[in-house]
Amino acid sequence: MRYSALKVLTQGLTGNKGWKRVWRDPEPKAEYDIIIIGGGGHGLATAYYLAKEYGLSNIAVLEKGWIGGGNVGRNTTIIRSNYLLPGNQPFYELSMKLWEGLEQDFNYNAMVSQRGILNLFHSDAQRDAFSRRGNAMLLSGADAEMLDQNGVRAMYPFLNFDDARFPIKGGLLQKRAGTVRHDAVAWGFARGADMRGVDIIQNCEVTDITTKNGVCIGVETSRGVIKAKKVASCVAGSSNRLMAMAGLRLPIETHVLQAFVTEGLKPLLSGVVTFGVGHFYISQSDKGGLVFGGNIDGYNTYAQRGNLPVVEDVCEGGMSLMPMIGRARVLRMWGGQMDMSMDGSPFIDKTSIEGLYFNGGWCYGGFKATPASGWCYAHLLATGAPHPTATAFRLDRFKHGKMLDEKGVGAQPNLQ
Ligand SMILES: Cc1cc2nc3c(=O)[nH]c(=O)nc-3n(C[C@H](O)[C@H](O)[C@H](O)COP(=O)(O)OP(=O)(O)OC[C@H]3O[C@@H](n4cnc5c(N)ncnc54)[C@H](O)[C@@H]3O)c2cc1C
Repeated sequence: MRYSALKVLTQGLTGNKGWKRVWRDPEPKAEYDIIIIGGGGHGLATAYYLAKEYGLSNIAVLEKGWIGGGNVGRNTTIIRSNYLLPGNQPFYELSMKLWEGLEQDFNYNAMVSQRGILNLFHSDAQRDAFSRRGNAMLLSGADAEMLDQNGVRAMYPFLNFDDARFPIKGGLLQKRAGTVRHDAVAWGFARGADMRGVDIIQNCEVTDITTKNGVCIGVETSRGVIKAKKVASCVAGSSNRLMAMAGLRLPIETHVLQAFVTEGLKPLLSGVVTFGVGHFYISQSDKGGLVFGGNIDGYNTYAQRGNLPVVEDVCEGGMSLMPMIGRARVLRMWGGQMDMSMDGSPFIDKTSIEGLYFNGGWCYGGFKATPASGWCYAHLLATGAPHPTATAFRLDRFKHGKMLDEKGVGAQPNLQ
């Protein structure tokens, strides 16, 4: 069923009785060409592009819980392509371009809102670093603008410009960045993949990866054994646990990252703002809640709730940046499992086991990467070769000393 304004109108006039289920609920088959483990944003996007771009449909996405229950439905919804390094920036710009056409492409309202992101700087040295990053962005075809203090004041006059320790001197603005309704992304990709014949199987946990003579031949699940020619891991924060089933160790640690939402307030923040000296970022949802977060909790865990020291740290960041936030009441907070790679950059690669593929290490920035990750992983799975934009995301880059250490706005492993 295609969605359109006419469909909404006719359904509205006929009692909304004609809407169809958004995706099927199939029983797992005994064998598939490709099994994707993990029904998060990246797994579903991969299935969608495999079906749409490569005409492959004998595919299953196996999800241990429900679609949208992982980080794709737990993140703070920010999309941007303001990276620095040549291995990263073109990839995130590809993602931004895919976001820009996504809703038309998969015929689903994901509320893509290009409301802009402003990274504040607080010293002359930071201004230089941000200028460099802005230039790298322009070179990759992205947009970037440097604002001085007056430029920032014109946008957000209530920020704490004259803080004695952290005066705001300006900011790097990317106007095409913004926010996207996170779980709608999962639903849109799921619907698009299902429409093209992909089986999306919820409540189906992979409990073992089966190999024979060094070749991956399928998986064991809570719903039985399923064979496959190719098995593609896409489980974000559970990457280590899953790949351990195949005897593989990854340069990844799992940490929890928390998010916070306040009560609904009148429109205050038109875009996303990041603090340049503490780890704090904030935006305002369409419902009016301030959505904010900060750094990961500093220890390894697979829990989906965090601890109070980080809550305190995040709130201190907020108070330094915009003291009036202290009067807003926090309504909700939660956590998600982050697959923190040791250089802050992701992996989209084959593994040393034939037929077993890996996508992970997205740290706390993988939501914005969702379309490009699916696009590039689908390319790897369908053609056997890495996508030209994702050639740096190799698992063996540590062995060869070719780390992608994105200090710009990527994760900082030294803080873990
Ligand atoms: C609080 C928070 C804020 C964030 N903010 C942002 C942001 O603003 N911008 C941004 O770009 N990124 C952000 N991120 C990061 C982003 O959400 C993740 O990097 C990204 O969603 C990970 O990819 P995914 O959607 O595929 O993961 P997930 O949705 O977690 O998908 C992985 C799936 O694998 C399933 N799974 C695990 N093990 C198994 C198994 N054995 N068998 C079957 N299924 C299994 C899980 O149930 C899960 O559904 C944030 C994350 C958090 C937690």
